[in-house]
Amino acid sequence: MAIEKATVFVIRKVDFKDSDYVVTLFGRESGKFAGIAKGARKLESKFGGVFDLLNLVEVVFYKGSGLEFISEAKLIENWEGIRGSGEAIDAGLRCARIVNKLLEEGQREMKAYDLLKDTLLSLDESQLRPKVVELAFYLKFFRYLGYQPQLRKCSRCGSSVDDENSVCFSPEAGGLVCPDCSSKKEFQLSAGLRKVLVRLSGTPQIEVKRLKVTENQLHDGFSLLDRFGQFHFGQELITRTGSSSESI
Ligand SMILES: [Zn+2]
Repeated sequence: MAIEKATVFVIRKVDFKDSDYVVTLFGRESGKFAGIAKGARKLESKFGGVFDLLNLVEVVFYKGSGLEFISEAKLIENWEGIRGSGEAIDAGLRCARIVNKLLEEGQREMKAYDLLKDTLLSLDESQLRPKVVELAFYLKFFRYLGYQPQLRKCSRCGSSVDDENSVCFSPEAGGLVCPDCSSKKEFQLSAGLRKVLVRLSGTPQIEVKRLKVTENQLHDGFSLLDRFGQFHFGQELITRTGSSSESI
């Protein structure tokens, strides 16, 4: 029986039997995997509150078939700053939920791990503008999974698309569509939002909250990525109503 150790985020937690948790964990090297923490819901459990969602934890586990058996867990970071703000915790939980939804069991995505870590660091450092951080998270996470919205040129013919006017955006085509390729069914993307999305995508995650993004641009940006995500991943991913009390 091989004993392994990993540093992981807790991205999902469900009650199991009388006193256990089944937790879904996401590590840089280990990828996403599920494990059982026996007795973790008992008051006197050795695990304490270590498996709160979003926590960064060092776990020791026995690797076997199916669920891993977690024998030890040590808290590394519980993001006190994030937990002091309803908006920040909701943003963090939605990011963790989409990681859980879009990664397969056993899938390793080191860039996504680093992105989640930088996102939580940023939310923890300051609880201002968590939605800007969240929007940038989705853009980058989609890119790491191979679905980067094309924002610089026409997704159909590759020609450059004028910077100064609103342009058509088509999730099916993969991004911008020039007037020649437009079927008139696409929705409009304003020049301002296009610039914001390019900047959010190209700025290190830890710094994105310094970028200027209006409330309207945020609203439209979420709507655009929601439609883009629904088309490419076949499910509703980005909800604006998630709350910290829901189970993810
Ligand atoms: Zn075109």
